[in-house]
Amino acid sequence: MITLALSKGRIFEETLPLLAAAGIEVTEDPEKSRKLILATNRPDVRVVLVRATDVPTYVQYGGADLGVAGKDVLLEHGGEGLYQPLDLNIAKCRMSVAVRDDFDYQAAVRQGSRIRVATKYTTVARQHFADKGVHVDLIKLYGSMELAPLTGLADAIVDLVSTGKTLVANHLVEVEHIMEISSRLVVNQAALKLKRDTLRPMIDAFASAIPA
Ligand code: ATP
Ligand code: MG
Repeated sequence: MITLALSKGRIFEETLPLLAAAGIEVTEDPEKSRKLILATNRPDVRVVLVRATDVPTYVQYGGADLGVAGKDVLLEHGGEGLYQPLDLNIAKCRMSVAVRDDFDYQAAVRQGSRIRVATKYTTVARQHFADKGVHVDLIKLYGSMELAPLTGLADAIVDLVSTGKTLVANHLVEVEHIMEISSRLVVNQAALKLKRDTLRPMIDAFASAIPA
């Protein structure tokens, strides 16, 4: 049995065409069922639905043989025990610094003030500000980062942006672009050796179907 870990939503949706290229069709709709284990047309392949941030953990410990996870999630996880053979070029967005539209970020940085930054991505944020020599107090959040500058919890946030509409709707502006984000295929290192005959052709089929 091959177990593939996916998160519901955009990663699930954008992974379907890659699975199709490997001849794999998920036969249940995660939005319509409460099942956490989904069957496919192949009796030897199943999909498990986990939180996006839990995908690397499932694959690392062998709860799943392979999975799809965002670069954001992988950088926070650290990538230990994971083989990362492919950038799938799906679920694309960017990681950025954003502030309230009336906050003068450049002046705060120039003055060397300590900046309070709220984020789910503390590892990436810490590294980013250390590289710039900016002193920050990081506040770990698990969601709705946009709210932090509006309530006075923080001066800035580090968050994922795609269209920028959520920022605009909350009177926030992007002031720095940290990195481009896309999702990657992650494979359990032991599984790759033990189940190589099944996994290798799957990985090759995914590679052939990566969107431009
Ligand atoms: P949850 O919504 O359950 O709290 P999550 O926000 O991590 O978890 P998703 O919103 O489905 O889950 O995001 C999954 C992955 O998709 C992220 O880790 C990131 O790589 C990517 N992603 C997040 N936001 C966007 C976006 N706006 N556009 C494109 N890709 C995104
Ligand atoms: Mg989300």
